[in-house]
Amino acid sequence: MTLSFGRDIFMTPGPSIMPDTVLNAMHRAAPNIYEGELVDMTRSIFADLKTIVGTNGHGVVYICNGHGVWEAALSNVLQQGDKTLNPATGSFAHGWADLARKMGFCPEIMEFGKSRGMEPAKIETRLREDKSHEIKAIMITHTDTSSGLRNDIVAVRAAMDAAAHPALLLVDCVASIGCERFEMDVWGVDVVVTASQKGLMTPPGLGYVFFNDKAAKIADATPKTSPYWDWAPRVKAEFFYHQFSGTAPTHHLFGQRAALDMIMAEGIGNVWNRHAVFARAIWAAVETWGSDGPLYLNVKNPARRSNAVTTILSDGFNCTPLRQWCEEKAGLTLGLLIGFDNYDNGFRIGHMGHLNPPMVLGALATIDAGLKALDIPHGDGALTAASRIIANS
Ligand SMILES: *Cc1c(COP(=O)(O)O)cnc(C)c1O
Repeated sequence: MTLSFGRDIFMTPGPSIMPDTVLNAMHRAAPNIYEGELVDMTRSIFADLKTIVGTNGHGVVYICNGHGVWEAALSNVLQQGDKTLNPATGSFAHGWADLARKMGFCPEIMEFGKSRGMEPAKIETRLREDKSHEIKAIMITHTDTSSGLRNDIVAVRAAMDAAAHPALLLVDCVASIGCERFEMDVWGVDVVVTASQKGLMTPPGLGYVFFNDKAAKIADATPKTSPYWDWAPRVKAEFFYHQFSGTAPTHHLFGQRAALDMIMAEGIGNVWNRHAVFARAIWAAVETWGSDGPLYLNVKNPARRSNAVTTILSDGFNCTPLRQWCEEKAGLTLGLLIGFDNYDNGFRIGHMGHLNPPMVLGALATIDAGLKALDIPHGDGALTAASRIIANS
């Protein structure tokens, strides 16, 4: 029999769980889109987002998802035929590179596999070889949502500096902003793209790009093919609607404001720490299951694991029935595996945004019950291991 009466829980890596406060803030009549409340509120949204991203640079919003801001960022700083270097640790890096190719740029993939992380020394070597500075940008995902791997942006910047290479550093932070520590200016990142629906706890539809003066200058000298993606008029914005190239995404902005109120009240440092604790609880549970069964964490090195999404593999063991059991029997939706040869051979747990210990421990307990119900071999004590992490936090 199904036991899933109650509130369904989505532990997928985006969209994340939308807080009621956010949904309620969106449930209202349309506002004046020319002056007043919305104008002031949008200003405050950027002020808070810049705190979270760690920048004093420029910020723009597009009505789009993550793929939209991928395109927005590239169209501002690259010209037809420009080369980019794309160190890859999962499918999102390949997705962004594919999009770059379709836009007429020339991405060069540097493959680092799905579970180990980048080797900055190799990036440095490649950049040193590029004596004529043909590579115009390095494109990196901070957290790759398919592999659950978090890349070391500081190390990549250091490699670029060591090679004295002038390329722009573009970072995809769709999965990490609001979950993981990120310090755009301190880390020397030139362009950041992110979106509303993951750590920022707002329905999909707002895409953000942050960029520094170096990127702005390059953009000024780049011929634009798309007026919609062009960030310059949005930054200058003589009239409010220029910020959006048309009608503002009114209700999304109300939702985003409510989500940012929650993040600012908790404090971004606490938000990052909370994600780190939940991530460690989930890893402890998976490692315990794996002590006597097929499940294991894709990323071995804890320092390279994302605090927002965990990828669990099963070496040929079919995990689809487990996901289905959790969803149908218990109302817990887990992420399916993407970017691996067979999506049956594992699953992902999204742990981003609006989560507390009962949600995380409840999800782990549900998976534990599913393993038992389906006779999937697993070590005992996963919940004890996870609750110990919560207890000691
Ligand atoms: C979710 C995600 C994207 C894509 O976002 P969409 O809104 O689905 O277009 C891009 N990059 C990363 C790292 C993501 O996690």
